[in-house]
Amino acid sequence: MSKCSVKSALVVGAGIVGVSTAYALQKEGVKVTLVDRKGPCAGTSYGNAGAIVDGSSVPNAMPGLWKSVPSMLADPTGPLTIRWSYMYKIAPWLLRFVNESRPHRAEANAAALRALTKNVASDWLALTKETALDDLVTDVGWLKVFDSDAGFEGTKSSRDMMIRHNTEFEVLGMRELRDLEPNLSTIFRHGIFQKRSRFLLNPERMVVGIADAFKDIGGDIVISDIHSLQSDDKGVTAIGSGGVLQADTLVLCTGAWSKNLAGQFGAKIPLDTERGYHLMFPVIEDKPIQRPILYGEKSFVLAPLETGVRMTSQVEFAGLENGPDFRRVRKLIPYAKKMLPSLVTEEKDVWLGYRPSLPDSLPVIGPSPKDPKVVFAFGHQHYGMSLGPTTAKLVRNIILGQPQAIPLWPYRANRFF
Ligand SMILES: Cc1cc2nc3c(=O)[nH]c(=O)nc-3n(C[C@H](O)[C@H](O)[C@H](O)COP(=O)(O)OP(=O)(O)OC[C@H]3O[C@@H](n4cnc5c(N)ncnc54)[C@H](O)[C@@H]3O)c2cc1C
Repeated sequence: MSKCSVKSALVVGAGIVGVSTAYALQKEGVKVTLVDRKGPCAGTSYGNAGAIVDGSSVPNAMPGLWKSVPSMLADPTGPLTIRWSYMYKIAPWLLRFVNESRPHRAEANAAALRALTKNVASDWLALTKETALDDLVTDVGWLKVFDSDAGFEGTKSSRDMMIRHNTEFEVLGMRELRDLEPNLSTIFRHGIFQKRSRFLLNPERMVVGIADAFKDIGGDIVISDIHSLQSDDKGVTAIGSGGVLQADTLVLCTGAWSKNLAGQFGAKIPLDTERGYHLMFPVIEDKPIQRPILYGEKSFVLAPLETGVRMTSQVEFAGLENGPDFRRVRKLIPYAKKMLPSLVTEEKDVWLGYRPSLPDSLPVIGPSPKDPKVVFAFGHQHYGMSLGPTTAKLVRNIILGQPQAIPLWPYRANRFF
């Protein structure tokens, strides 16, 4: 595809990946229609912790992780749950995950993750300056804290991985933690601080703001639940509840819901969902913390959004169809209070979201195996909010035939087959 041959595009899915992609293409003069079954920010981009993690290089499938799975599952407040009725469905994904945790695979995935995330902060800065949304991004970094020596020591292989892949971080002791976050409980003995990371004060307002900026430069938004994709020599057709839409090219950005639509374009992608919850505590005048903070031993985050403190929870394997189990996140309230004694723990809202995840912790970004007019951009797992603007640049370059800053083969759609 070259710039002159692509005059129009359909971008399906209006989460952070879709709105950023639609904006990037429309800005280049492509006539873009952004399609979503509900409208901008109806999916996982709505409820995340807003951490914009720059230069990440630790895949989830780390060597030896599988050995801790039984103890994780045994702990009712632990970082992982599997809905037993979903076990037979998730088993093949888990086997692939174990395969990806072999040292050489983990090392390759770390390198590919690092390549993708190394310009996250500057890509966000560029997009938010252009769209006048930069007041929603703060440069407060990303902090992980540990209340035990054993918890911190357990991160040694991740820290070694970060060092090998040039991810900048600082190790903080008790006094430095106190200086950075005075209201944090004194139980915390160790911290890992990624200073270059950013924080979104309101992920929803950001996604909707980018969608509005896209409309301001001439983009269209259509509500339609797409169920079928087709292509021929002339272009691509998307058929859904809102009728038939056609364009020269199509970008599939439907997050955790991408598997079936991608399957219509020859891709057998082991996409599943690592579900995660959030619970909102009320807005208070003085923010008790300044940045998103992960409680390492309990694997949850407290994030000081403009709408209140958001607690985001761990990982649940239960697919897209099973209902929520909000006890998962409510069980963590005492630990949130332990972490931040001044926190007002009145529940304002609770939510379930669906991280779109592949076993190698990398997204799919690239042309579909069946027809290069259909481009895939989904599977951003725990870092989708961080990677929206970067993914948009890569997709724009694919569609316009422009050079890429990084090789895209680690993210290709057919890498599992
Ligand atoms: C609890 C939690 C905390 C998180 N914290 C962070 C964080 O701090 N930092 C970070 O970087 N990431 C975080 N993430 C991950 C991040 O939120 C996701 O990776 C990201 O939002 C995925 O964006 P997306 O645009 O790919 O998908 P989504 O935001 O899910 O958007 C997909 C869109 O596609 C639409 N759609 C689906 N199917 C169809 C169809 N058939 N037809 C039309 N439209 C359709 C949906 O309505 C939706 O709007 C977190 C995730 C969770 C669950």
